[in-house]
Amino acid sequence: MRRVALHWQIIIGMVLGVVFALILNPFEWGADFISSWIKPFGSIFIKSLKLIAVPLILASLVKGISDLKDISSLSKMGFRTIITYLATTIVAVSIGLVVVNAFQPGKTISEETRNELIESYGGDAESKRQVAQKQQESGPLQALEDLVPDNIFGAAADNSNMLQVIFFAIFFGISLILIPEKNALPVKQFFDSLNEVILKMIDLIMLAAPLGVFALLAALVVEAPSSDLIIALIYYSVCVVLGLVLMIIFYTLAVWLITKKNPIEFLGGIFPAQLLAFSTSSSAATLPVTMERVEKELKVDPKVSSFVLPIGATINMDGTSLYQAVAAVFIAQAFGMNLDLAAQLGIIGTATLASIGSAAVPGAGIVMLVIVLGQAGIPEAGLALIFAVDRPLDMLRTTVNVTGDAAVSMTVDQAQKNR
Ligand code: ASP
Repeated sequence: MRRVALHWQIIIGMVLGVVFALILNPFEWGADFISSWIKPFGSIFIKSLKLIAVPLILASLVKGISDLKDISSLSKMGFRTIITYLATTIVAVSIGLVVVNAFQPGKTISEETRNELIESYGGDAESKRQVAQKQQESGPLQALEDLVPDNIFGAAADNSNMLQVIFFAIFFGISLILIPEKNALPVKQFFDSLNEVILKMIDLIMLAAPLGVFALLAALVVEAPSSDLIIALIYYSVCVVLGLVLMIIFYTLAVWLITKKNPIEFLGGIFPAQLLAFSTSSSAATLPVTMERVEKELKVDPKVSSFVLPIGATINMDGTSLYQAVAAVFIAQAFGMNLDLAAQLGIIGTATLASIGSAAVPGAGIVMLVIVLGQAGIPEAGLALIFAVDRPLDMLRTTVNVTGDAAVSMTVDQAQKNR
């Protein structure tokens, strides 16, 4: 019998998860059963993906850099990668701003609905605000200071410290290129085979992906918030979704123009990673699969992907920045504020930085949104307005984040080939 392709297995898992939860949810014991007996399998799946995130970043970056052999090709590729990531993020925020200004979803919210939403979600919003406040209270160079770990084991012990691990890996990789080849060889061989072992671990974990996404989506359905207030937010969600779709079209066209890869092949190649991003809401958890698909299906040189993708998963979040722009303006509109051009340009800057600073985990985008709101003078209580629909939008924006990383890896690969 022919094996069903991975993306079909994942889609079937997702659909069955939703159907299963919809059938059990009406029974009193149904939601409990799913939370106690099904959800843990979803958590195990996400945990096992996260488990390999740190070793994967370390091994693939060290391998990627040491394969480059000289510092000048590294700095060229590094420069290209960062500039392209910045450019796509700015495009994303701009698309978000155009859509939200054109459709003005916030104007549809009545004062009554606004108060109702703030009442229901005010507590959740407050806790996000406190997390963001901690980040905000730091000095202007804090982000730079945080980049450098004082203990690599400490940094590697915390999944939210990916940038520190990346810093260490790049530093280590560069030093490896700088010592005589003969002396570097044992370390290089170690990292080459470590990388291979980790890729095998990903293959094995992915065997459980259909079951994992089944459990994740079933749990999501029974834990979804009540739907009566959600109607008021549909218009806002439509704007975010429209922006995200435009962003995917933008990537597809850019990849087509720059690399000549046709859109169907590009999207088909990355599809399983998109589905996983959608189910897990975490670009970090999806990274192993993104790397595998980009290398095997889209034929990006592993030297490029192993450098570009781990960095992208951590700093390039176009879906998140687009969502932050739409959400900020939506909240301003809901509070009857008019944002002038300067304020909107400010949002481009802060949303770009906030998305770079967002961790690649579920819900990170809404935490950093507080900073965007703060800078633009929009009431932070407005977070409560968008809380109910944040999870589904998180799933979608993570899908775009991952697609963006893949698209940039293809364009950087093409640029390397053209050299
Ligand atoms: N969940 C997103 C990601 O991992 C971040 C966000 O919350 O926007 O890419």
